[in-house]
Amino acid sequence: MNIPQTSYPRVVIIGGGFGGIALAKKLAKQEMQVVLLDKHNYHTFQPLLYQVSTGGLEPDSIAYPIRKILSKYPNFYFRLALVEAIDTAKKKVSTDIGELKYDYLVLATGSRTNFFGNKEIEANSMIMKTVPEALNLRSLILENFEEALLTDSLDEQDALMNFVIVGAGPTGVELAGALAEIKKGILPKDYPDLDTRRAQINIVQSGDTILKGMSDKASIKAEDFLEKLGVNVWKNTRVIGYDGDMVTTTTDLTFRTATLIWAAGVHGETVNGLDAKELLVPGNRIKVNQYNQVTGFDNIFAIGDVACMVTPDMPNGHPMVAQVALQQGAHLGDNLLRLIEKKGSMKPFAYHDKGTMATIGRNKAVVDLPRYKFQGFFAWFVWMFVHLFFLIGFRNRAVVFINWVYNYVRFDREARLIIRPYKKPKMKVNTMKQKKA
Ligand SMILES: Cc1cc2nc3c(=O)[nH]c(=O)nc-3n(C[C@H](O)[C@H](O)[C@H](O)COP(=O)(O)OP(=O)(O)OC[C@H]3O[C@@H](n4cnc5c(N)ncnc54)[C@H](O)[C@@H]3O)c2cc1C
Repeated sequence: MNIPQTSYPRVVIIGGGFGGIALAKKLAKQEMQVVLLDKHNYHTFQPLLYQVSTGGLEPDSIAYPIRKILSKYPNFYFRLALVEAIDTAKKKVSTDIGELKYDYLVLATGSRTNFFGNKEIEANSMIMKTVPEALNLRSLILENFEEALLTDSLDEQDALMNFVIVGAGPTGVELAGALAEIKKGILPKDYPDLDTRRAQINIVQSGDTILKGMSDKASIKAEDFLEKLGVNVWKNTRVIGYDGDMVTTTTDLTFRTATLIWAAGVHGETVNGLDAKELLVPGNRIKVNQYNQVTGFDNIFAIGDVACMVTPDMPNGHPMVAQVALQQGAHLGDNLLRLIEKKGSMKPFAYHDKGTMATIGRNKAVVDLPRYKFQGFFAWFVWMFVHLFFLIGFRNRAVVFINWVYNYVRFDREARLIIRPYKKPKMKVNTMKQKKA
């Protein structure tokens, strides 16, 4: 990998997400060599991916080059690499560009979509975890409307304009709200020759509340907002199958749709060599102690979504959210300094929950802060402010802000472009087309 051998200890971080970047920023100005490996050369601000999928933002306003974030640190090295395996005995990682030895290793690999073993749904549904996936979804949504224009069959048109989102967590709810606003404000203008009033946005949730984990008030208000926007909210319903055309559920409810969006859960993104059963908890997360140390290793750590730190008040580990990753990254930075430079013993991690929020649409959001809970316009304003604050890079903040003002004033989302057409993979048989033929 052409990384120079120095007298400094080498800390290898796998993953340039919220946790990995927070850690690298802490360490790279110290007397140690920090090597960050990521399969993308950019950091993704995942909370705004749904705005890319729905044409509200361009992808480059929510992604930022990792090299640029850390360019001013002389001891920092980045390599664009997919880490394939970890050899804990030989203290080295194997990647698609070669091998690298480490003194200390930190896994900050995040999470991936969890289909709970349902291969059919995995093969046929859309997901939104990365920028390319968000762009795929954006293309498919627009392609569906283009295709709907070409058919005389109302059934087929309905299936193309029917969207089913599985999972009513923040991602599902935000996506449903954005699609409902597109239906209301954009489709009638873009497709005057199509009866877009028949477009349906459905959100399906297995439990009896949406935004589980937030307060009852937030959940009830969010449902109310969604219904006012015309979204069909289906609770106590579990999606069990989707063959690319028909969605089946545990109830009598079925949907015919060209687009099933799976937002029903994630699990830890582990790496070969550090994925033995005894290291993991349900949810495929790596068990760590209160210093984020992986069980059985002094020099291997895990932070963020991939790590599970069980504490008396968090029996299932911390929530898989950006704040946890950011705080664990920064905290581990301080601890590694103490450990490597022998500046006292490591301190246990304590999570400061700053609150949870979700936006449902224009002027509509719900915010649960530790002391206050509020909904509506002010919540929406706070949601925007917080997201702008945490975006990396002045340019991105400025671009997102200008886009939001423009979209708000003009009731528009101009990034509705099919730049890279999405072709459903072979397994994703478009049965609608087959039936027509
Ligand atoms: C659509 C969506 C919306 C979200 N909305 C919110 C929200 O509103 N608020 C909130 O707090 N949280 C939200 N989250 C969750 C939040 O984004 C995660 O909790 C957070 O990103 C976790 O940070 P992390 O550093 O652990 O991992 P990530 O930020 O996911 O970063 C992991 C990094 O590791 C890299 N990587 C993984 N495996 C490898 C490998 N083998 N080799 C090389 N590189 C690898 C990836 O490319 C990635 O850059 C959302 C998540 C999604 C998907």
